[in-house]
Amino acid sequence: MMIIVMKRSATKEQVDALVKRIQKWGFETHLSEGENKTIIGVIGRGETLQSRAFLAFEGVENVMQVNKPYKLVSKEFHPNNTVINVKGIEIGGKKIVVMAGPCSVENSATVMKVAQAVSSDGATVLRGGAFKPRTSPYSFQGLGEEGLKILKESADSVGMAVITEVMDVRDVELVGRYTDIFQIGARNMANFSLLKEVGKARKPVMLKRGMAATLQEFLLAAEYIMNEGNEEVILCERGIRTYEQYTRNTLDLAIVPAIKELSHLPIIVDPSHATGRKQLVLPMALAAVAAGADGIMVEVHPNPAEALSDGAQALLPSDFSAMMEAIRIISKAVDRTV
Ligand code: PEP
Ligand code: MN
Repeated sequence: MMIIVMKRSATKEQVDALVKRIQKWGFETHLSEGENKTIIGVIGRGETLQSRAFLAFEGVENVMQVNKPYKLVSKEFHPNNTVINVKGIEIGGKKIVVMAGPCSVENSATVMKVAQAVSSDGATVLRGGAFKPRTSPYSFQGLGEEGLKILKESADSVGMAVITEVMDVRDVELVGRYTDIFQIGARNMANFSLLKEVGKARKPVMLKRGMAATLQEFLLAAEYIMNEGNEEVILCERGIRTYEQYTRNTLDLAIVPAIKELSHLPIIVDPSHATGRKQLVLPMALAAVAAGADGIMVEVHPNPAEALSDGAQALLPSDFSAMMEAIRIISKAVDRTV
């Protein structure tokens, strides 16, 4: 459904021409002629019409879309919250899900060490990049399949599930052999061919918000995945670009309750990439849980100074333990468990 507001100066011929055109496309119109302005209501498969296209018609002042442009991700059509089961771990249920691990998979000993530490403190999903989306082509790009093997081996040894990023349509099959959840990184949120490809996969996908994406663009990206038949989509807020330089990104926590209002999909918060500073990770993780997030994803490294990527935001295993203690207290206050 759409509303077209005609200019005050619009002629009757212009209104008639537009109405005729809309009806020819198979839509019903509803004309309302006010003293100063005429409004045309367009009823029918409104979502298939490009509302902005009407601005090209003579005499049109404004066009308003009444329906939301997304459907499958919307709470309107799916009132119950989606709970995704990954190896017995429920994402979107009462329990806060904690995903933790190094930024990049560097070597087996490091990942194993992190996996043991975080799993003993309650993390259930092991993260780590084998294909890294680095800003510079000269930075460490990840170990590729070797990294996937290390990640899976480490996760298996402590009974955790695996999440790792897939950057390329050509790698979906390969990454799918090792991971339990596909991660789509912020830089690829609007890579629509990649979204469609993971949409065809029968595995959960965690979609990170693009660094300049609006809430609507974020939800439409999730719609792309669901539109291919994959209903297991997890959203992840990881901060957006603003003018602030002290933090790596600006954590948009208000998006958490906003998404809970608009969508049935689970939402995870990543305070590591959102802040870029380890001191800020714990307080933002607590705030995320208080705001209603279904889980958090954090980076942990036993020796951040030696990390091949994102050392500044990496928690030590001992920091991670402290964070989990604090999360336990906050989750109780919002009727969740961890
Ligand atoms: C990551 O989580 O490994 C990552 C690269 O994050 P983002 O895509 O949010 O920058
Ligand atoms: Mn990182």
